[in-house]
Amino acid sequence: MGKVTVAVAVIGGAAVCAAAALVVRHRMQISKQCVKSADILKELEEKCATPTSKLRQIADAMTVEMHAGLASEGGSKLKMLISYVDNLPTGDEEGVYYALDLGGTNFRVLRVQLAGKSGIEFQEFAEVSIPPQLMVGTSEALFDYIAAELAKFVADESEKFRLPAGRQRELGFTFSFPVLQLSIDSGTLIRWTKGFSIGEMVGKDVVAELTKAMERQGVDLRVSALVNDTVGTLAGGRYDNKDVFIAVILGTGSNAAYVERAQAIPKWHGPHPKSGEMVINMEWGNFRSSHLPLTEYDNTLDAESLNPGEQIFEKMISGMYLGELVRRVLCRMADEAALFGDTVPPKLKTQFILRTPEMSAMHHDTSSDLKLVGNILQDVLEIPNTTLSTRKIVVEVCNVIATRGARLAAAGILGILKKTGRDTIKDSEVPKTVIAMDGGLYEHYKEYRHCVKNTLNELVGDELAKHIKLIHSEDGSGIGAALLAASHSQYI
Ligand code: ADP
Ligand code: MG
Repeated sequence: MGKVTVAVAVIGGAAVCAAAALVVRHRMQISKQCVKSADILKELEEKCATPTSKLRQIADAMTVEMHAGLASEGGSKLKMLISYVDNLPTGDEEGVYYALDLGGTNFRVLRVQLAGKSGIEFQEFAEVSIPPQLMVGTSEALFDYIAAELAKFVADESEKFRLPAGRQRELGFTFSFPVLQLSIDSGTLIRWTKGFSIGEMVGKDVVAELTKAMERQGVDLRVSALVNDTVGTLAGGRYDNKDVFIAVILGTGSNAAYVERAQAIPKWHGPHPKSGEMVINMEWGNFRSSHLPLTEYDNTLDAESLNPGEQIFEKMISGMYLGELVRRVLCRMADEAALFGDTVPPKLKTQFILRTPEMSAMHHDTSSDLKLVGNILQDVLEIPNTTLSTRKIVVEVCNVIATRGARLAAAGILGILKKTGRDTIKDSEVPKTVIAMDGGLYEHYKEYRHCVKNTLNELVGDELAKHIKLIHSEDGSGIGAALLAASHSQYI
């Protein structure tokens, strides 16, 4: 009996030892994976680094391109488009107006009643997501879909929004793509960006296309202002705050607009505006510079995108792309460092599967075991049982990509401040600069939003930072378009 017991004990001991050895080997493998992944992470951090000196170079390059884009049509990657808005809302606007805001993901329709100094009395919204197949189909299909939604929205109009008999409804059309405007209410599409690609639309007047679709759908609405979302946000922001001077969108894509002196626009050959000013839609998404910290992930994302070689700045900073950049880094870690096991998880190979809202949720996970990160890896990428160290690496990748994006966005803002002479304290008269910010990325990605603000403060210094304010202009682009429709109404 005794012998047997001993024998069992020996066998049991061997089993325990073998299991322990397995655990040790497994741990060593994990730590080896993590060490290799950490190397890739370190390389990523180095390549994505945005020290203040680099941001200043980027801001300077932005300023140079702004000058070039204003000098002549096609003079720069920055289109610096003339918006035909030379007067921003004053607060005296009155009447019922409609707005249609076509972004990169959704479109919104709204109805506002402007009541002069007593403000916006009432507004109604309807938000509709754009079916992906319509983003790459025909212009007729896209605009018919939008016009049909507009028809439903107009049909729902309540008594209090009725216009006097014989007066046509008027619409401000916010169109968040590069358009060469010919007047306040017309403009031809230069090219698509974000997820859109409808070749036959390029070169066509977007207002004419919408108007034809509204006629087909039996909607009686006149487009009285065509505005970019940045211009709409600037107008909406100015309505609330007279110091709003710049607008920046950080949503699916990214862009900025600001108020320029008409005399500083050599390519403008139209009549000199009474205000002496003109709003410029920069189309800053297409900015590029040798100072931008581009990585292999950016280069392959760009090469495989719908618009290779274009919108390089946008691809580094905006909501459509941040999650995809994280996915590309994780893919390399999975492939070269076996971060998620012996094989690359199949889902991780799918482009755009990891969206920025999920990246943001992982980045903000404050639980001690990063449970939410584990859940997202499981639910979105079908990667089960991740260890805490793996999750930590994933969060760090999100942090590096978001931080780079936010710091570059702040450098872009510094570029505008420099161009307009608002970047230094020259004398005691420091103009107050309020920047109207909007877009789902800015609104929902807290770490990103804070990083934009902190970086801007770091760049301008504490003293000047007191005179520069970022405000979130919620739905400013739609309301701004309605306000511009009012100031360009056929009835005034
Ligand atoms: P658009 O740019 O299409 O006009 P929005 O301004 O609403 O629309 O921005 C939508 C974009 O904002 C999404 O494509 C996404 O990238 C980003 N976004 C939305 N929600 C979040 C979130 N919770 N965290 C991070 N980014 C988000
Ligand atoms: Mg938008």
